[in-house]
Amino acid sequence: MTLTLTVPPRADADRLTGLPVAVIGAGPVGLAAAAHLLEQGLPVVVYEAGNQVGMSVRAWGHTRLFSPWRYVIDDAAGRLLEPTGWTEPRRSSLPTGHDLVARYLEPLAQAPELARVIRYGIRVDAVSRQGMDRTRSTGRADTPFLLRLRTADGVEDVTARAVIDASGTYTSPNPLTAAGIAPAADLGHHVVHALPDVLGADRARFAGKRVLVVGAGHSAANTLINLAALAKDEPGTTLLWAIRNAGTARLGADAADGLAARGQLGSNVHGLVESGRIEQLASYEIDDVRPDGDSVTVTGRRAGEPFAVTVDVVVNATGFRPNLNMLREIRLGLDDIVEAPRALAPLIDPNLHSCGSVPPHGVAELAHPEPNFFIAGMKSYGRAPTFLLLTGYEQVRSIAAELAGDHQAARDVQLVLPETGVCTTDVGGSSSCGVPATNEAAEGSSCCAAPAPAAPPASSSCCTN
Ligand SMILES: Cc1cc2nc3c(=O)[nH]c(=O)nc-3n(C[C@H](O)[C@H](O)[C@H](O)COP(=O)(O)OP(=O)(O)OC[C@H]3O[C@@H](n4cnc5c(N)ncnc54)[C@H](O)[C@@H]3O)c2cc1C
Repeated sequence: MTLTLTVPPRADADRLTGLPVAVIGAGPVGLAAAAHLLEQGLPVVVYEAGNQVGMSVRAWGHTRLFSPWRYVIDDAAGRLLEPTGWTEPRRSSLPTGHDLVARYLEPLAQAPELARVIRYGIRVDAVSRQGMDRTRSTGRADTPFLLRLRTADGVEDVTARAVIDASGTYTSPNPLTAAGIAPAADLGHHVVHALPDVLGADRARFAGKRVLVVGAGHSAANTLINLAALAKDEPGTTLLWAIRNAGTARLGADAADGLAARGQLGSNVHGLVESGRIEQLASYEIDDVRPDGDSVTVTGRRAGEPFAVTVDVVVNATGFRPNLNMLREIRLGLDDIVEAPRALAPLIDPNLHSCGSVPPHGVAELAHPEPNFFIAGMKSYGRAPTFLLLTGYEQVRSIAAELAGDHQAARDVQLVLPETGVCTTDVGGSSSCGVPATNEAAEGSSCCAAPAPAAPPASSSCCTN
């Protein structure tokens, strides 16, 4: 069928001149994107929904990263920070999320060049092309992007010559049900987001409660280890652990795990199961979750038979997925399974790859049918759980070079993620982030992890879920 365009071409290249590149999100990757764009001499505006940088990192700030400082600071960001008198943290030590914000993201956002271009308290609600929904083709590449911004004062529309969506996935958890659809009932305070600060700010929500943790990855394990520590001091705290598969092979239960750190985490949580301090509910496929008086009842099937538990609180540690609502009018090229850009998806499919084996990639793999539109950072991995900051920094370096017209530099992606060593620390020996190939990994519940040997359990490390 031939599509007849009734609207005459209405764009010319001049319409883009002088417009900034819009970056959505002032997390580590959004800020790095801005740093690279500025270095390329391109105008940029960063829109951040929160009133501060690193809003998602703050939410899990009590958690210790598994990557040491040398793997979480972007090069261009470092060059912006250098003249400000910033003191680089010891490169081999492991920051917590709060450290990452206080010692890197905040100073970076205050660097004069960046401070001028970040706009806080602005949520990007929608991205489109000016006067063009996704069905219009003629002159599309030369037509400015249109961003609908939501602020405390109302709604504002702005234009941009290119868009980098670095809005992360942390605020879009996978639903609890095996079908991937959110339970119909309003569960209110009964369901808690992944990685609650069990031994700190969120203690009262769990002390003396019957708690169900759902998910087979390392964030579930971290949460369970912290809950077990809490249960020692708070009688009546009862722990259940729901996993969809028959076992938790990816947690690495012993020395056979190539990763000392991950093996340790796995050993710890398996030890708690064996000692009876955690009741593991394997092969549990959750169908529904409903409030039940002051409690909540989780119904489903175990080995095909109906099964239900009633608890006070459920911790959803099932992983994250990208929120694509605001990109409805953008021509995306996403993989059907992982929801990552099509060329990137095979490189990060959690059934096949670990975070240590993801090849470096840039603008070529991140391109969408929509010219000059990119998803970068955590969100670029879609439902795959193994994203690392170093990967994101190379992504945005490549995108910035492309937008500046340096196509060769854009395609000359560097090996930023060594097969091993990215999780090497000076406190816990070495680890990699290898995740065994299992079907469950594809469910977005895999994770990289390293020990938090110098820290209490509350600061234990985890990856994305
Ligand atoms: C517990 C945990 C531990 C991790 N540990 C490591 C580690 O050790 N090493 C490592 O390399 N990686 C680690 N990661 C993975 C990854 O590096 C982080 O998730 C990182 O925060 C991703 O950065 P980002 O900039 O892509 O997204 P985010 O940090 O999620 O930032 C997104 C930003 O966008 C803003 N935003 C969202 N929607 C909008 C909107 N519509 N409009 C405007 N702004 C918006 C948010 O407020 C937020 O500030 C970890 C992740 C988690 C969850």
